[in-house]
Amino acid sequence: MNNFTYQRAATVADATAAVYADARAQFVAGGTNIIDLWKYNLTHPARLVDLNSIPTHRGLDATDYGGVLIGAFMTNAETAYHPLIEQRYPLLSRAILAGASAQIRNMATNGGNLLQRTRCYYFYDPCAPCNKRVPGSGCAAIKGRNRMHAILGASAECIAVFPSDMCVALAALDATVHVSGPSGPRSIAFQDFHRLPGKTPEQDNTLQRGEVITSLELPAEGFSQHYSYLKVRDRNSYAFALVSVATGLTLDNGTIKEARIALGGVAHKPWRVTEAEAFLHGKPANEQAFAGAADILLRGAKGYKYNAFKITLAKRAIIRNGMMALNPDSQRPGAQPSA
Ligand code: SF4
Repeated sequence: MNNFTYQRAATVADATAAVYADARAQFVAGGTNIIDLWKYNLTHPARLVDLNSIPTHRGLDATDYGGVLIGAFMTNAETAYHPLIEQRYPLLSRAILAGASAQIRNMATNGGNLLQRTRCYYFYDPCAPCNKRVPGSGCAAIKGRNRMHAILGASAECIAVFPSDMCVALAALDATVHVSGPSGPRSIAFQDFHRLPGKTPEQDNTLQRGEVITSLELPAEGFSQHYSYLKVRDRNSYAFALVSVATGLTLDNGTIKEARIALGGVAHKPWRVTEAEAFLHGKPANEQAFAGAADILLRGAKGYKYNAFKITLAKRAIIRNGMMALNPDSQRPGAQPSA
């Protein structure tokens, strides 16, 4: 039995002060992952600070330079179906709708999506050694069942992957994460928000104690003409990615002017290599070019006993998704990719 104090925060300042003051306090919003962690007896909060009564950061607004500001307390479903997102950032909409189930998307918030924990089986098994759950205890996955695990950016301490789909699109779109904490507000580039495991896999991100995510900002370029999100998984619904790819392109008569590619399901954070995107600049948009970019993105990839297949799978997914991005209509159910 884990007794805890429940507190309904009225403002962001109230919430951050409460969590900063108590090392065993936790925020809760949608609760779609955090409640699992309690039920699995993995976390034991002494104080629960509920963000659901805070009236701000629930909407989505266009910025004066052509971008959008997305409230962190909006749900994933509200975001995916918002007309501004559907029209100007369809890559984000597709990625959100590829994740979880309709019921979970109706509850899960945007801020919570960034903060969800890995779905490594051993992380949820209190009998297994896991450096992310109990630092210094070991990693059962490295010599265990590691089919879902990382091929890029892993360490000797942890080979877990970050499970979000939404965040793969946010990485490709160059989002900014706005947070607020005891020291006031600050902004974090999306690529700097999540961490690689290194020697401290228990830290998933760069938030400081008491900080809460308040909004996500997208720049004006949404790649709404040429985009695709491809998620390869064991079943077609309610499964985490083996490999996913978010691709956005701007084209000039078939030549790539700008490219963004981010991978999911392969690392402890959404995986983006700007050198691969620069490689595509000025090249004809074809399979050969996307294959070259894939080789750069997958440089240094390492497989384990059960997941080495992901290296080949990722390369094929990058090429296929690049071709699908040329014709976003190819992503309709039953449609064939253009090639
Ligand atoms: Fe724990 Fe990471 Fe190893 Fe999974 S991969 S058992 S999360 S340390």
